[in-house]
Amino acid sequence: MKKSYRICKVAFFFLLTIIAGNTIGFAQTKTDLSKANIERLLNEAYTKFKDVKEGKNADYIKELANVDPNIFGIALVTTDGTVYTKGDISSMVSIQSVSKVFVMAQVLEELGPQAVQDKIGVDATGMRFNSIVAVELQKGKEINPMVNPGAIAATSLVAGADSAAKWKSILQKQSDFAGRQLTVNQPVYISEAGDNLRNQAIAHLLLAYGRMYFDPVQSTDIYTKQCAINVNAKDLATMAATLANGGINPVTKKKVVTPQTVQYTLPVMATAGLYDDSGIWYYNSGLPAKSGVGGGLLAVCPGKFGIAVVSPPLDAAGNSVKAQKVIKYVVDQLKVDPFLIEPKK
Ligand code: GLN
Repeated sequence: MKKSYRICKVAFFFLLTIIAGNTIGFAQTKTDLSKANIERLLNEAYTKFKDVKEGKNADYIKELANVDPNIFGIALVTTDGTVYTKGDISSMVSIQSVSKVFVMAQVLEELGPQAVQDKIGVDATGMRFNSIVAVELQKGKEINPMVNPGAIAATSLVAGADSAAKWKSILQKQSDFAGRQLTVNQPVYISEAGDNLRNQAIAHLLLAYGRMYFDPVQSTDIYTKQCAINVNAKDLATMAATLANGGINPVTKKKVVTPQTVQYTLPVMATAGLYDDSGIWYYNSGLPAKSGVGGGLLAVCPGKFGIAVVSPPLDAAGNSVKAQKVIKYVVDQLKVDPFLIEPKK
C-alpha cells in the first residue's frame, strides 16, 4: 500500500515535470552529469592532452620558472559536493590571479555591487593583466577586479584596521572558498615581493587618480601575498563550485558569500577572467572562468559544477594551455555551454 502510494507520487511529479517542461520550455540542452560520465570524461581529457607541449612557465616572477611544467591535475566538484579528480592533485602551485575572483567577492560582500562598480570599475580593459596604459587611458576608471590595477584596488578596499587584519581576512575568505586552511608559498611571495615595482607603480598611479583606498605599498604587498597562496586543482575546483552553488561551499556546506555576490562576480569573470583573451575564451566555452600565471584555471558552470586544471605552461596572454583545452573539451562533451539552447518543439 505504502509502496504503491510512493510510486503514484513519483509518477505524479514526473508528469508535472514534463508538463512544466513543455509549457516553460527546457531551454538548456540535456546533460549527463552522472558519476560514470564525469569520470569517463576526465580520464579522456587527461589522456588526450597530457602530452601537449605548447606554452611556457611564467618567468617574470623568477620562482615560477622553477615550477615543474609537467604538473597536470584536473578536478571537478559538483554542486551536490561530489569531488572528481584526475592526475596530479598533490602538487601545489601559487594561485596568482585566480585569487582576484575571491577578493572581489569579499569586497562585494562588504560593500555591495554599486560600490565595486563606482570605486573600482567592472569594464573589461581588453589589455594585458598588468597594463598601465589601461589605467592611464581612463584615469583609473573603467578597469575591473580581474586585472592587476582593479585587483590591487579591491585588496585596498577589504575591511580591516591595518595591513595584518586585511591579510588575515583575505586568507580566511580564500580558505573558506576552498574548504580548507590555505597557506602561502613563501619562496613565491618573497620572489615577487622583491620584484613587483610595476604593480607598485600601478598602485601609485591609482592613488594619484584617487582610486586607491589604503596605503599603496601595503596594498601591493597584501596583493602579492594573496597571489602566492598555494593551491591544487581540487582546491580551485571547490572554490569554483562554491560560486556555482550560489556561495555555499558544497563540500563543507559553509555559507561563504551570498547569491547576490556570486551574481555580480560571475559577469566580470566572463568578460575579463582570461585577460586580453577573455573574449576568445567566452566565445568558445560560454562559462565564466579565471586564470592565473601559476598555471591554474577554474571555470564555473552555474548551478551544476566548478572545474579546474593546474598545468603551469602558459600561452602568450598568460593562460594555461592545457587547462584551456581540458575545460573546453569537458564543457563541449557535457553540453553545458549555457548558450547551447535546445529549440522549443
Ligand atoms: N602576481 C601576479 C602579478 O601581479 C599575478 C598575475 C597573474 O596571475 N596574471 O603579476
